[in-house]
Amino acid sequence: MGEDFGGLPEAAVLSIDIEKALDSVEWSYLFRVLKAFGLGDRFVKWTTLLYKAATARVKTGAMISAAYPVSSNWPTQGQVEFQNAFLSYRPGLPNALDGVDFSISPREKVGIVGRTGSGKSTIFMALFRMMDLEKGNILIDNINTRLIGLEALRSKLAIIPQDPFLFSGTIQENLDPRGSNLDSELYKVLEQCHLKELVILMGGLGSEVGERGKNFSVGQRQLVCLARALLMEAKVLCIDEATASVDQKTDQVLQQTIREQFADKTVLTIAHRLDTIMDSDRVLVMQAGKVVEMGSPQVLCNMEDSAFYRLVHGEHL
Ligand code: ATP
Ligand code: MG
Repeated sequence: MGEDFGGLPEAAVLSIDIEKALDSVEWSYLFRVLKAFGLGDRFVKWTTLLYKAATARVKTGAMISAAYPVSSNWPTQGQVEFQNAFLSYRPGLPNALDGVDFSISPREKVGIVGRTGSGKSTIFMALFRMMDLEKGNILIDNINTRLIGLEALRSKLAIIPQDPFLFSGTIQENLDPRGSNLDSELYKVLEQCHLKELVILMGGLGSEVGERGKNFSVGQRQLVCLARALLMEAKVLCIDEATASVDQKTDQVLQQTIREQFADKTVLTIAHRLDTIMDSDRVLVMQAGKVVEMGSPQVLCNMEDSAFYRLVHGEHL
């Protein structure tokens, strides 16, 4: 095994093997955390459950080998393509993605809009492989993401979620969990995200963020995610805009930093306010799991029969 799992029963060890095969960084992290906290019995229960889940996924063929050799600098371009993607959260539910097809060019800025429940966040879920597609493919720089290990995939994509939480711990641990960056590099990205002064005021990189980051506002937590994205040098940035409770100043900092620092990256923004995406290269309009329109916001908002026009003018799609 190459690693000591403390004489755990076979099911647990087996699940670790499966986990290795699936190359899922979260799982191995979870195992280590549980082990570190000495959760013996519960650890075994957890791993047995995970083993069952993993076996089910292997059986359904939902996950293919993680051993596809991608170069360490993949993706160099940041081109994102969905090909006839279908996804359902549970059997019997309508498809959350219902044949989604689009192609986003390297460095393009795309706003994703649509009414609530239309499938916007599910696009990100599928991109990060939080959920597997039932049918279809997602390609990044022409490589099928299904073939790439989760760790490799997620280390190359950055996300700013709607309501981000930070891990209880220090600012340093949240920004750079692997401890692979110099303090000066951390301060540089904090400065780019207008957080440096605040962090210094709080007592520096070693200061605690509080439980789930409660010492920061939602907007500031989003800025921390942005700083992490800068540190990762992600080629593709996904933003699920906060619906509320971000003060205007923080929001402006966020928008401005994204414009400045991600000019040469691909940026997908799920927008709840249209003003954020009016200067995008294109908007993608979702409706009931389908892409109903994709084009320049300037052009579409002047076309009275477009879905985007109806959204801009406050009508339901
Ligand atoms: P919003 O603007 O409210 O954030 P959205 O466009 O992001 O909406 P999604 O969250 O992608 O919509 O949801 C698409 C569909 O999938 C909806 O019908 C939703 O109810 C369903 N859905 C989303 N998450 C889950 C889940 N975890 N389990 C079951 N159904 C889900
Ligand atoms: Mg959503």
